[in-house]
Amino acid sequence: MNWKENSRVAMHWHTNEQGNKIVCDLCPRHCQTQAGQMGFCKVRGNVDGTFHTFNFGKSVTATQECIETEAVNHFMPGARILSLGNIGCMMACSYCQNWQTSQIKHLNDANVFEYTPEQVIELAVSNDIKVISWTYNDPVVWHEFVLETSKLAKAAGLTTLYKSALYIELEPLRELIEVIDIFSISLKCMDDAIYRKENKGKLQPVLDAIELIAASDRHLEISQLVVTGLNDDGTDAIKTARWMREKLKPEVPLHLVAYHPSFKYKKPRTELATLLKLRELVLNEGLEYVYLGNVYADDMSNTYCKSCSHLLVERFGLSVQVPGLDAHGNCKNCQTPSVIRDALGGQPSEKPVLAPFVAEQTYAFEWNEEIRSVHIFLERPQKDTVRIQLKRMPSNTVQYLELNEGLERIILSKSSAEETQLIIETACQTPLHILPVLDRAHFPVIDETKASSYA
Ligand code: SF4
Repeated sequence: MNWKENSRVAMHWHTNEQGNKIVCDLCPRHCQTQAGQMGFCKVRGNVDGTFHTFNFGKSVTATQECIETEAVNHFMPGARILSLGNIGCMMACSYCQNWQTSQIKHLNDANVFEYTPEQVIELAVSNDIKVISWTYNDPVVWHEFVLETSKLAKAAGLTTLYKSALYIELEPLRELIEVIDIFSISLKCMDDAIYRKENKGKLQPVLDAIELIAASDRHLEISQLVVTGLNDDGTDAIKTARWMREKLKPEVPLHLVAYHPSFKYKKPRTELATLLKLRELVLNEGLEYVYLGNVYADDMSNTYCKSCSHLLVERFGLSVQVPGLDAHGNCKNCQTPSVIRDALGGQPSEKPVLAPFVAEQTYAFEWNEEIRSVHIFLERPQKDTVRIQLKRMPSNTVQYLELNEGLERIILSKSSAEETQLIIETACQTPLHILPVLDRAHFPVIDETKASSYA
């Protein structure tokens, strides 16, 4: 599709005093554009003296994921979410994992699809998904679509999640706080010089925006990518912890997330030992909940009762069990209320168990040190229902899935340290691609990976 077609008038802009330029007021960059020019994000621009958004409804393929994918551990643990991500970004991180969709000059039109707000709600409802997540490149530059669809989502009784670097002005953020339930914010670091050089943004507006959310009743979690050679020596982690302790509620979690080389930044992946060292440092600074992200190992992301240390939520990568919480979110052992909201809301509802079927296609994928999650992507033209059977080896545990209303992508991840292989069987002839996911909130595009070599 030509994604530049069907632009519409944007929110948050004004004409300058001279009357010859439009100033965009959505993010702190405040781009000034003459007629025919685009702003820095390349998805908002001046059309004959009126400011337009060009990406309304334009998204990568909607994908079923898990709420932990978004660095959210204290809200509906294990909930399936419907993730949508647009194109363009108000920043340009040198290590961006979604650079093929966030940086427009690298965009392949084949990765852009179009949804109406109503279609997004229908996709979620027909697949029994309770959370809609605005994620991947960054929802800030998708403001109008996020706002309109989130209003519909609230009317439909759905939960909304906003995963963002939060480089946004406070007025549009106030509009989001009205309709977003969960904010998962990527605070890049506490060093303004790094923000300017490596992220093409500034630190203070991000801190101000986080404080505005913290002052509301919305759920907030903070994540920080620990990038080799940038913010991995402990100084920044300590600054982050001190700022969080001073400005945020003590129950706000911090996720220290392993980075992988991407886009222009090629230093080695974050070592587990580095993450463990930083975790100790921030715990010593008094943070109560510190998790490690992009780490598939036992006991890195579990939640324990603050009162009796009972295991409340057990996580391995994106596999989640809730053994220690009752329906009210209290510890089953000592009945102390936990900080987790809607504790059992993410657990499967009472649906009929799907029966086995005769497979028409079979695919196998071997897990390795680099790849512990994949998107499976079914390119199908009709909105038919597709049934999928998963076998986890060597345990031979079998799981059945059903994708309805044209849902085409779903994330699958390694569920235990012992698991070596995933066997995927479908009851249809629709071609299936297996796309490695290298990071949380990484959206693998189809030409980025040699997809067919995994099929
Ligand atoms: S949202 Fe885009 S156009 Fe507006 S100020 Fe930010 S980068 Fe510039």
